[in-house]
Amino acid sequence: MKASAIVAHGGFEGLRYIDLPDPQPSQKEVVIRVCACALNHLDIWLRKGIPAYRLELPHVPGSDVAGEVVAVGDGVTNVKVGDKVIVNPNLTCGECEWCRMGEDSMCDSFGIFGAKCWGGYAEYAKVPARNLIPMPENLTFEQAAAFPLTFLTAWHMLITRAGLKPSERVLVVAAGSGVGVAAIQIAKLAGAFVIATAGTDEKCERAKALGADAVINHSRENIAERVKILTDGRGVDLVFEHVGHEVFERCLASLAKGGRLVTCGATTRPTASFDIRFLFSRQLSIIGSMMGRTSELLTIVRLVSEGKLKPVIDKTFPLSEAVKAQEVLESRNFFGKLVLVP
Ligand SMILES: [Zn+2]
Repeated sequence: MKASAIVAHGGFEGLRYIDLPDPQPSQKEVVIRVCACALNHLDIWLRKGIPAYRLELPHVPGSDVAGEVVAVGDGVTNVKVGDKVIVNPNLTCGECEWCRMGEDSMCDSFGIFGAKCWGGYAEYAKVPARNLIPMPENLTFEQAAAFPLTFLTAWHMLITRAGLKPSERVLVVAAGSGVGVAAIQIAKLAGAFVIATAGTDEKCERAKALGADAVINHSRENIAERVKILTDGRGVDLVFEHVGHEVFERCLASLAKGGRLVTCGATTRPTASFDIRFLFSRQLSIIGSMMGRTSELLTIVRLVSEGKLKPVIDKTFPLSEAVKAQEVLESRNFFGKLVLVP
C-alpha cells in the first residue's frame, strides 16, 4: 500500500510517501480502506520525535480516520466487510482499574491510534474491531474523519473535567484550531457565553459564524484586558486553553474569582510561569485534561449525526501531499481541520 510515513525524526523531509506492506487483520482486528484521515498536532510531534512516543520507524501517523471495512479477523462480530466506519482513537486494555471505571484516557496502557500503532496516513489501516463506530450517514468521509479526536478532547475538557454550566462565560483560545472549532460549538450547545480568540480578522469572523458571542484578535488585542471589558471587569468563569507557554499567564489573568482554566496540548512551549499568590488569592483552579472517554465520543457521534455539532474542514490534500498538509498545520494559517484523502 501507499503511505505517507515517518522514516526519520526531524523536519518535513522525515515524512515520505512510500510503499509499505498491506496490513492483515489478526484476531478481533479489522482492516479498513482509509477514505479520509484528518491531521492533528500530535502528527507533528510524532514526526519531530518526543520522549512520550518511542516509535519504530517507519511509522504511519494519523489518528482520525474514516473508511470502509475490507477485511475482518477471526472473532469479529460488530462489523462486516463494506461497513462505513470511523475509528475511536482511544487504544485501551479494557481491563485495568481505570478502564473498568470508564476512564479510557487514564488506562494504564493508554495509547492513541496512529501513535501507539500505525494510523491513517495510508491506503489501509488495521484497527481493533472494538474501536470501530458506525459512520454517521449524514457525513462525507472527509467530515467523518474531521471530528473524533478534537471533539472528544474538547468535550472532555469543557463538560467532564471543567464541568461547564449554562450561562457561564468561557474563553476559547485559538478558535481556528481543530479543538477550538469543537470547543466553540460544544460550549454554545451547553448554553455558555463564548468569547473566542484568533490571530486574524478572517478567523474571528469564522469563529462568530460558528457561534462565538464575542471575539478577540489576539494579534493586536491583549486577551486579558479585552476579556475584562467584555465581562464588565469580572473575567470569565472558564478558560479553554491548549496553546501553553504563549498565552498561559494571560489566560489566568482573564479568569473571574473562583474561575477554572482547563488545559491540554501546549502547542507552543510546555512550560509556563505564573504568580502562585494570584492563583490562591483569587481561588482559581487549573485542570489538566487529555483525550476523553469512549462514552463521550458516542454522545458526540450522536450529536454530529443530528447536526447539532458540525465538523469544520479547511482543506483536503491527496495522501501523497502529507508534507504540504503538515506545513499548513504548522503555519497556523487555516481554520478547522486539514484532511488527507488517499
Ligand atoms: Zn486499561
